[in-house]
Amino acid sequence: MLLASRFRSVWTQRAFLWQVAGKFRLQPLVAGLTRRVFARSPFPLPPVVILQLTEACNLRCRMCYEWGRTGTQLQEGRGGPATLPLGLVESLLDDCRPERTFYSLFGGEPLLYPGFEKMLERAKRNGSSMETVTNGTLLARNAAMLAELGMDLVRVSLDGPREVNDEQRGRGTTDRVMEGLEALYREKQRTGRTSPLLGVIYTVTRDNWHCLERLFCRDLDLRWIDFVTLQMQTFVTREMGLAYERILRREFGCTGTATWRGMLRDPGEFGDLDLGELLRQARRVRSTLLRSGIPTLLFPNTWSEENLSMYLKANWTRMRDYKGHCIAPWVVTDVTARGEVAPCHIFYDLTVGNLGERGIREIWNGEAFNRFRRYMKGRLLPVCPACCQYYGYA
Ligand code: SF4
Ligand code: SF4
Repeated sequence: MLLASRFRSVWTQRAFLWQVAGKFRLQPLVAGLTRRVFARSPFPLPPVVILQLTEACNLRCRMCYEWGRTGTQLQEGRGGPATLPLGLVESLLDDCRPERTFYSLFGGEPLLYPGFEKMLERAKRNGSSMETVTNGTLLARNAAMLAELGMDLVRVSLDGPREVNDEQRGRGTTDRVMEGLEALYREKQRTGRTSPLLGVIYTVTRDNWHCLERLFCRDLDLRWIDFVTLQMQTFVTREMGLAYERILRREFGCTGTATWRGMLRDPGEFGDLDLGELLRQARRVRSTLLRSGIPTLLFPNTWSEENLSMYLKANWTRMRDYKGHCIAPWVVTDVTARGEVAPCHIFYDLTVGNLGERGIREIWNGEAFNRFRRYMKGRLLPVCPACCQYYGYA
């Protein structure tokens, strides 16, 4: 495809624009201004909802905060992985119809969700956009369904060439992901569709920081993908986690504060990471991708040796990307696989209502959610720099 036409097909996709807007912190701004101009009122419903469809996953990735070595699923008293009842999801989709809410699906592994097709059909019928983050191993068998039902965006985790990615995520994983990426590409070619847009997320860890070139310049067929995200692994230090626990207990009477332990890392673990080499590879990868018309999103936003060094040392306040607040609680909410509405992404300790008991409109506008918003005005939680929302909304 010619570069120009490829860009056109990418840039005219609403979902991708929405993602990019989120990345550049324009999403809430655009939505807020639209609301102000046309309705002159605060959001009656969330413009963005992140659905944790299921806690179940078919992989056991080493670094996973849910199923990895220190993962929350292995903590005592969990009682097995939960899955969001389809009835709750359908009610939510219908309740949010006036807002034409954007849904981001994740898990566990979202493609394991038994009601996936029904949910996607309903969302599209309601005029919403939907994206999913997936480990990609079930993509091949779902490619036709995703294209046919109009999924807007699929983001696939791929953390290196086979020898490295399989080490982190399990033997045979990489081949299945590659099959999935190709299957979705072929399906779009066959049907002449441009969606779903297909992205690869590469999470840089202490085990794969040196493999960017091998994946993007050697192994991956760049015709398959529309964009790439290079993100540094998020992590929480013990100090941050304990400070977060104290705040949740003191301010919200919240005692279930264990999620951060799944992301616990000692910054010393990243000591072997050669930032100069990582940045050299990242530069080469980005220019290779750009030559194929593929944009790259970076998390955190500034990839310089100094900034990433501060990041890996958990010296957040000295980062160029440091912000003193997060506006996510005003524009986005999570719904956990247990039906709980959680104002923060991933950190599901504080919840403000269950969809099994009350509708989203009531919870979104309820006292518990508003109390959290009042607390968050102009400040952060100690764990915020470990939250991917921080780099989109803070
Ligand atoms: S695929 Fe995702 S949810 Fe599943 S184990 Fe790996 S990182 Fe965790
Ligand atoms: S950045 Fe902080 S306040 Fe914002 S969603 Fe994440 S944990 Fe919550």
